Amino acid sequence: MKALLFLLVAALAAVASALTPADLLSRAQALQSWMVEQRRELHKVPEPGFKEFKTHSRIVRFLESHNIPYRFPYAKTGIVAEIGSGKPVVAIRTDMDALPIHEPEGAAFRSQHEGWMHACGHDGHMTMAMGAAKLLWEAHQAGELPPGSVYIVFQPAEEGGAGGDIMIQEGALEDVDAIFGMHVMPHLPAGSVHTRPGTIMAGALSFRVTVAGRGGHAAMPHLNVDPVVAAAGLVSALQVPCALTFLGIRNETAGSVHALHSPKFTLDEGVLYKGAAMHASVAVNYLRTYAVPGGQAAAAATPAQEPAEAEADEEEEAEAEEVEAEAERKDEL
Ligand SMILES: [Zn+2]
Ligand SMILES: [Zn+2]
Repeated sequence: MKALLFLLVAALAAVASALTPADLLSRAQALQSWMVEQRRELHKVPEPGFKEFKTHSRIVRFLESHNIPYRFPYAKTGIVAEIGSGKPVVAIRTDMDALPIHEPEGAAFRSQHEGWMHACGHDGHMTMAMGAAKLLWEAHQAGELPPGSVYIVFQPAEEGGAGGDIMIQEGALEDVDAIFGMHVMPHLPAGSVHTRPGTIMAGALSFRVTVAGRGGHAAMPHLNVDPVVAAAGLVSALQVPCALTFLGIRNETAGSVHALHSPKFTLDEGVLYKGAAMHASVAVNYLRTYAVPGGQAAAAATPAQEPAEAEADEEEEAEAEEVEAEAERKDEL
């Protein structure tokens, strides 16, 4: 009887601790060597935005080997993996593209595409999303995942090209209630997570503005409207904020101390499993917090709530670091 009671207590404790952040972290830790392998394979084949073909194939192979359902293509090479069903729908987003940067000799898994490099950490982002997909899929198979769906969104062309925007236009996020993304950050300590409500860093978008002035004599500027002065003021007035979560990767021992987009940029691979656990934990927490009354059956009739964080994170797509916008503004001026 005592043994039975013990088993019952142990079983209840297991249910209570299933899919907590700590539980997901320890499950993710078990995937660490697999994740390092994935990241290095992706690192070898850095590709330009909308041409992430080998990257795409690798992700598809991963999804198929686990029987994880997915939809594609979106924005040429984009993929949306689907775990679970019904409402609410929470998405985890990663980017896929690399940069036209020559990777110096050194790493055994150095870029095999001369002149291209994963110098912004997107190889790590994809690996973390794949790790999260694996964790969530296994939890789904075991019946542990709360009702609802998790989409894992693989987005092309983050480094300009606005791949995320095109995926949205093509309907990739039509039924998504909230989406979360993250970027590695070399000046923040490895494994630490940083975010805040509202503005955290600048965003960039392209737009055209015509500034009309009124001509006159330079000696009487108060009677004229100088469009150059007005346009110069616009540049600083129209900086558009967006929200984002960062995962620190700064680790002196691992050498991951160089800026994003530097040829010396390197990832602290020790954070890979932490990123996967973070993604999985955010998704599970969302499904629990925004559960639709009546579960999946009520999905069609009951729209999910719109949390405040979701709005902020939607803007995360604007993170595409387009220098074009800046260049265009300069052209206008
Ligand atoms: Zn970048
Ligand atoms: Zn990036």
